[in-house]
Amino acid sequence: MAHLKYLKKKSCPICEMIEYIKMNENSTPEFVEKFDQIALNVADVLSTKARILIVDDDRISLKLLVGLLKQYYILDQAESGKQALEMIASNPPDLILLDVMMPEMDGFQVIHQLKSNQQTQNIPVIFITALHSLRNEEAGLSLGAVDYIKKPFIPSIVLARVRNILTMVRHRKLLETLAHIDGLTEIPNRRYFDSALRREWHRAIRYQNFISVAIADVDYFKQFNDNYGHAKGDRVLISLASEIRRNLKRPYDLVSRYGGEEFGIVLPKTSADKAYQLCETIREAVEQLNIVHEFSSASKKITISIGGATVIPEQNMDMSTLVEKADRQLFMAKNNGRNQVEWA
Ligand SMILES: [Mg+2]
Repeated sequence: MAHLKYLKKKSCPICEMIEYIKMNENSTPEFVEKFDQIALNVADVLSTKARILIVDDDRISLKLLVGLLKQYYILDQAESGKQALEMIASNPPDLILLDVMMPEMDGFQVIHQLKSNQQTQNIPVIFITALHSLRNEEAGLSLGAVDYIKKPFIPSIVLARVRNILTMVRHRKLLETLAHIDGLTEIPNRRYFDSALRREWHRAIRYQNFISVAIADVDYFKQFNDNYGHAKGDRVLISLASEIRRNLKRPYDLVSRYGGEEFGIVLPKTSADKAYQLCETIREAVEQLNIVHEFSSASKKITISIGGATVIPEQNMDMSTLVEKADRQLFMAKNNGRNQVEWA
């Protein structure tokens, strides 16, 4: 029922209608199923319709492209390079169709700006132009355009090229997302933890803020797996991931799967006191899940040990020192009898 969840997020009226129809005792199963099908189609269209920005100073060619693409895509239009750059900055599209010959700022200048900005460098650009010389095509492609469409347009070719590029874009986005997500727990993975910590570390240096890092480890997890089986162990990791995530209230707080049974937590702008308190809350929350673990020497249920550290980083400090510090605290928490939080 993923489509229903999607529509609910969009507070779609069709979703409310389905709920209503399901609740109504006079609704036949066939009727409910039919509406479910409609909801599926709506969600499909809403979630997959790509946004394209068309940039062309020639209104006739702009109109032609809009007429060709509007039934398949959400379209934005700009009549100059400057206007295009403003629109892209405020609302980046999935694809840009960019005219080469424009007064003031031509297509080459626009793509040059897009490629030199980290926020926009990955948005694919297809050049549209009346210039037929090979040299121009080469120049466009070497500046980073993914394709080239020549005027006058052949509708079927324009459509096919746009569709191909967008399929590629969708695949890349999917891969990017998957590459940062832990397959089991569906929280960010170690790679994402490293890049998020790096980002927050530099921010903390710049603004001279606290940054806290914690590592949580499941107590006697090997004994759990050995006695209850790995499938149950996996379910424990899934529960813990969502329990820790539930306790992080700010959008920039992060929990990731750090290692096998370890979770890495990054708490930007958080003092040692506050971070310790939060981790203590998380430790308690995990204990309160009451997952039976007869083979734990710390408790008869699943518990976690947490080690953490806080710092206001200086320019010349190495990010890994903070993680190492947290790691040492985790070691102490384990040594002191587990199911506890240690902080530095
Ligand atoms: Mg032009």
